[in-house]
Amino acid sequence: MLNIVLFGPPGAGKGTQSEKLIAKYHLVHLSTGDIFRANIKGETELGKLAQSFMNEGKLVPDEVTINMLASELDKSPDAKGFIFDGFPRTQAQAAALDNLLQSKNTAITSMLALEVEEEELKKRLLLRGKESGRVDDQNPEIIQNRIDEYNNKTMPVKDFYAAQNKYRGINGLGEIEEIFALLCNEIALSTK
Ligand code: AMP
Repeated sequence: MLNIVLFGPPGAGKGTQSEKLIAKYHLVHLSTGDIFRANIKGETELGKLAQSFMNEGKLVPDEVTINMLASELDKSPDAKGFIFDGFPRTQAQAAALDNLLQSKNTAITSMLALEVEEEELKKRLLLRGKESGRVDDQNPEIIQNRIDEYNNKTMPVKDFYAAQNKYRGINGLGEIEEIFALLCNEIALSTK
C-alpha cells in the first residue's frame, strides 16, 4: 500500500495537491478538515462538537479526531492506499495512526511536508476566504490562531516521522504542476 501523510501549515496547498495525487495514484483521500465540515453541514453530533473548536481556529481534541479517523479507515477496507490530509496534527494522533495502520498490516510510506513561509500563508488564506466563503479563512485573528496551533502542536509531528526517516520537506512555493512533480518524485524515491 502507498500511505502518504501530506503535511504543511494551513494554506500550504495540501488540498490542491491531494486532488492531483489521488487522481494519479488512486488513493483514498482522508481530509479530517473536510470530514468535520461535512459533519457540521449535516448537523451531526460530531459536527456540533467540532464546530466550536474550528470556529476559533483551535484543534479539535485528539480523542474525537482519532476516533473519527479510525472509523473512516474502516470504511475503505479495499483501498490501495490513503492520503492523509490535515492529519495527524499532533504527536498523539501520529502515534495513534501508526497503531491503526499496524493493526491493518500496513504503515505510513512517507510524510511529504509542503513548506511555505507565514506571510504567504496569510495572503493565501484570506484570498481563499473570499473565494470559498470558509469562515475560518476570513478573519485574520482566527488565521493567526490556526498558524499558532500549527507551530505549537503540529510542527513536532515532523520529528515523529523524521525519527522513522520518513519526513521529506518540499518547497511549497511555485507553480502547482512544479510542486506536484516534486511530490511525485519523492513518492517514486520512497517506493523504490
Ligand atoms: P483544515 O481544513 O485541514 O484546515 O482544518 C480545518 C479545521 O478543522 C482546523 O483548524 C481544526 O479546527 C480542525 N481539524 C482538522 N483536522 C484536524 C486534526 N487532525 N486535529 C484536530 N483538529 C483538526
